[in-house]
This record gives sequence, C-alpha cells and structure tokens, in this order.
Amino acid sequence: HVGDFQIRYAQSTVYIEPQTDGEDVDEMFEQVKKVFGFASVTRAAACEKNMEAIFAAARAYLPAKLRGCKTFRCEAKRSDKLFPLKSPEIAAEVGGEILEAMPELQVDLTHPEITVWVEIRDRMAYIHAGQERGAGGIPLGSGGKGLLLLSGGIDSPVAGYMMAKRGLFIDALHFESYPYTSEQARQKVLELAHELCEYCREIRVHVISLTHIQEMLRDNCDEEYFTLLLRRFMMELANRVAEEKECKALITGESLGQVASQTMAAICVTDAVARYPVLRPCIGLDKEEIVERARQFGTFDTSILPYEDCCTVFTPRHPKTRPELSKVEQQEARLDKEALLQEAWDSRYTVAVRQFE
Ligand code: ATP
Ligand code: MG
Repeated sequence: HVGDFQIRYAQSTVYIEPQTDGEDVDEMFEQVKKVFGFASVTRAAACEKNMEAIFAAARAYLPAKLRGCKTFRCEAKRSDKLFPLKSPEIAAEVGGEILEAMPELQVDLTHPEITVWVEIRDRMAYIHAGQERGAGGIPLGSGGKGLLLLSGGIDSPVAGYMMAKRGLFIDALHFESYPYTSEQARQKVLELAHELCEYCREIRVHVISLTHIQEMLRDNCDEEYFTLLLRRFMMELANRVAEEKECKALITGESLGQVASQTMAAICVTDAVARYPVLRPCIGLDKEEIVERARQFGTFDTSILPYEDCCTVFTPRHPKTRPELSKVEQQEARLDKEALLQEAWDSRYTVAVRQFE
C-alpha cells in the first residue's frame, strides 16, 4: 500500500527499490522494519558502479545523514571483485570527497560519530550511513499457522507477536461472555488483533460465546474450580477451531505462577484436554518483562483499557492452585459437557482483521 516498489533477491539480501521519484520511501522503510525475517535493514542511495557516480551519489545523499555530526569514518565493501579499486582505496577516495563537500567534518577512524559505507554489489553501488536492526525472526507463515487464544489482556498479544516472529501465521480465538462481557470488550480485542497486524498482516479472529458454560459452572460446580473448568472448556473449543482452521499449535499468554490458573498443577490440568502443542512463549517472563514487550510491540495502551474478560466473570475467591485431575473431572461430570461444547461451538463467528484497513 505504500507505493510502487520493485523487490528482488540476491544472495541473502532483499533489495526494495522505488520505481518513481514520488514513492514514500520513509514509510516503506518503517514498514520493512516490521517484517519478520529481516535481521537488519539499510536505507541506501544506489548508483552506477563507477567512482564518478559514487562521488555524485555520496555528495547528494550523505550531507543530510551527516548534518550535526563532527566526526565520521568511511568504510567500503566490495563483493564485486572485478571493481578496479580495492576497498581501502574506495573508502579513502569517498572519504576525501565527503570532506570536500562538508569541510566542517573530521575523520576519526577509531570513535567516529557515524560510519558511512560504500558497498559495491552485484548490479549497483550503494551508499549508506549504517544499518538498523530489522524485526528479526523468520518469515511469517514459514512455520505454518498457530491459533492464539487472545484475551483483552497484556500477555496474549505479546505471546502472539512472539510466535509470529518465529514464523507462525496467526489465527486468533476469543471467548466472550455476553452480557457479562461487553461490546467494548469485543472491540478491544479486535483492536489488539489490528495492532498485531502491523507484524502479522492479517488475523482471522474467531469468536465463541461461553455465556451458557459459565452459567452452568456457576450453578453446578464448586466455586474453587470455576476458572480451571472454564479453561478446560476453552482448550476443548480451541482444539476444534485449530482442527477446522488447520492450525498446528495453540498459543496462550500464560506465565508460570502468575495467577492461580497458571501454576504448574493447573497447567497440567488444562493441558490434559489439549490435542495440540500449547505454546506459551511468556512462560518464563515476569509481568514486568511482558509489559515492556507489550509497550515495544504497541499493544500495551489498548490492553490496559478496563473492560471485563470472561475470565474475570464469576471468579472464585479461593481458586485451587494445586488441583488434582481426578477431582476436576468429577466436577465436570456434573455437566453435560458435550452438549455445552456443541452449543458454544455453534455460536462461533469470524471477523477478519487486516493491516492498512
Ligand atoms: P492475558 O493478559 O493474556 O489476558 P492473563 O494474565 O490475564 O493473560 P488469564 O486471564 O488467566 O491470564 O489467561 C491466560 C491465557 O488464556 C491468556 O493469555 C489467553 O491466551 C487465554 N485467555 C484468557 N481469556 C481469554 C479469552 N477471553 N479469550 C481467549 N483466550 C483467553
Ligand atoms: Mg486475561
């Protein structure tokens, strides 16, 4: 959506080149920094592979980059060994040219404020003022698809980002409990999905209602088991969505010991019904660390909007922190589990959320 760019690959580099002078290169550069799989990104001026063209490009491109600096150094790299000058010679010549154009600068080979680069590559020469870190990770979708259990909280969007970064295309599953949870809570989750789309491009958010399940839990089961039982229902429904949408894993934002339902014993009880690997990238992170990431990924401000989540409806005052699977199963036996699952399953609908929309 940012304009007309040509993209080509050579060795381990992807070249993205504007096709007209009018393209928004700033915007393109910002977007490229959000593409998983790029270790680093470099904005460069391209020119013909001869010294005259390189001098001209350096004079046109570098002053804006060097403005305000006192010291610099010039480095050259030559992957085209047929180029008549060697790297140190190229660096020295271009460095001299820069000094002529900007006499206020000084060369400092050991601690320069900025290092400018001349790279002689396959087709063109490139001049730039250093690389920036890319989004890292591996390309989106290269690891297949995962189903992110997306609440409106801080942790699950972070978990989604982390697994997308490792190559999983993300589908999301959100559980609501209308009227105990509100329309705003639903909008908030779609907004979080939209924010993740900065990196994930498109997320299909599947929504399932847990209202009746939660009411049945409240009316038939012991309060201390509410959350655990609910989480097992979530997992069972997530299994079904994963199967239908061909996801290879479930992803949650759980962190060991953060709340009663995230003790090791509780996780064992929930995982007992999962039919897919449950990926929990936040499992070893402290809340502070998760918050830091949420800020960095841009989801924090939305996450802290104060709307109810279905997990905070009918929460037990004294939840079980060391549940036994057999006891949990006894609680479940009080319910017509299959019928409840089917009813919840039939309530599902999907909203597709896309970047740039
Ligand atoms: P988060 O900040 O992600 O909400 P949390 O610390 O509040 O996590 P819980 O509410 O126990 O913890 O939820 C643990 C995980 O279960 C969440 O990270 C998320 O993956 C999933 N989850 C919780 N509530 C929902 C929901 N309403 N819809 C979908 N998934 C949910
Ligand atoms: Mg939550």
